Amino acid sequence: MPTESTFFLAGLFIVLAAAGWAFAYFSGRGNEEPPPPPVNADYLRGLNLVLNRQTDEALELFVRMAKVDDETLETHFALGHLFRRRGEIDRAIRVHQNLLARPNLAETQRHQALFSLGQDYLSAGLFDRAEKLFAELRGSPTLARSALENLVDIYERESDWQKAIEAHRELEMLTGEKSSQVAHYYCELAEKARINGDLDLARQYLKSSVRSETGAFRGKLIRAAIAQEDQDYAQAIRLYEQVLETDRRLMADVLPELVSCYQSANRERELIRYIEGLMAKDPDLKAALAYAVVRNGLLEPEILRDCVEDFVERHAVLAGLVEADRLAALADSDREQAMARIIVALRRLAESGVRYRCTSCGYGSQRLIWHCPSCKAWETIRPVQTLQLENLVT
Ligand SMILES: [Zn+2]
Repeated sequence: MPTESTFFLAGLFIVLAAAGWAFAYFSGRGNEEPPPPPVNADYLRGLNLVLNRQTDEALELFVRMAKVDDETLETHFALGHLFRRRGEIDRAIRVHQNLLARPNLAETQRHQALFSLGQDYLSAGLFDRAEKLFAELRGSPTLARSALENLVDIYERESDWQKAIEAHRELEMLTGEKSSQVAHYYCELAEKARINGDLDLARQYLKSSVRSETGAFRGKLIRAAIAQEDQDYAQAIRLYEQVLETDRRLMADVLPELVSCYQSANRERELIRYIEGLMAKDPDLKAALAYAVVRNGLLEPEILRDCVEDFVERHAVLAGLVEADRLAALADSDREQAMARIIVALRRLAESGVRYRCTSCGYGSQRLIWHCPSCKAWETIRPVQTLQLENLVT
C-alpha cells in the first residue's frame, strides 16, 4: 500500500516539475528568447492523480514519462528512490540499471547511480553485489564516505572483521574521526582465534585492541580467558579481578571463572578472603555477588552460599517465601541442604528471565554480546542482573 510519505514525495515531485515549467515559461515572456516547450500533459495528469491520492497510477505514469523523456535524470533518481522506499526493489534496480546503461553519463551522476543501485542491493539482502558497487565508489570525490560507511555495515553483518578494519581505517583517514569500533573488530578476531585454539594469534590481535578504552577493557576479558586456558591462573585471577574493579555488572560472567581459577590454583583461602572483601564493600555489590552465585548455581566454597542466605534474609519477598526464620534455626547440615535447594530454585527463576538487554533498542539476549544484532550498535547490551520475581506467576 502506498504510504503517506510516498504520496507527499510524489506530490512534491510533480509540483516541482510543474512549477519549474511555469517559472521557465513566465520568466521567458517579455524578452526575445524563444518560448519554452509546452508543459507535458502527463505532468498535469500525474498531478491530478496525486491530488486524488491515486499514487500507484501516478507512479506508473512517472515510469512512462521517464522512458519518454530521456533527459530527465532527476526523474529517474526520484523514481528509483520512491520504488525502494515502497519496498519494490526489483523496480528500483531496473530504474538504476537503466540509468547506468546511458552513454555519456557524467561522473557524478554515474557515481550517484552506482550508489543508488548499491542501496537497492543492500535492501534486497544481496550483500556481495552491494559490496562490489560500494567498493567501486571508495575513491569517489562525492560519495566515498557514504560508500565506506555502507561497506563497514556489510562487513559487520557478514562478520568479516579483517575487511571491516580496512574499510574503517580508510573512513578514519577520510574523516579524521576515530571510533572504538576498530578495537572491537580486533577483539572479535582475537575471540575467534582463542576459540580455534590459536592463542598466539589471539594475543597478536589483542595488541591492537588497546587503541580504545572499551576495546582495552574487552581485551582484558579475552586475555584473562587466554591465561586461564594456558593454566596461568595467577595472571587470569589478576585480570578477572581488574575487570570486576572496572565494571562490577559483569560479576555474573566473571565470578564462576574466577572461582574456577582460584580452585585450580589451590588458592581457596585467598578466594574466601577476596569474597569477604567484596561482601564488606557495599550492599549493591553484595546483591550483585548473590545474583552471580544464583545465576551460575555456585555452591562452593561455603561463603558463596552464605552470601545468598544473607541476600534472601534481607529480601522482603524472598524471606517470606523461604521462611528465613526457620531456615536460620536449622542445624548446619540441614541448612546447607536447604540453601542448595534454594539456590537451584532461584537459578531456574533467574534463567527464566532475560540476562542482557540492549539499552538502545531493548533487544534481549541470554549471553554477553558486544554488537547488538537488532540495532547494530556496539556496547549497548548490558546485564539485567536482577531476579524477575514476576516470572514466578507466568
Ligand atoms: Zn540494540
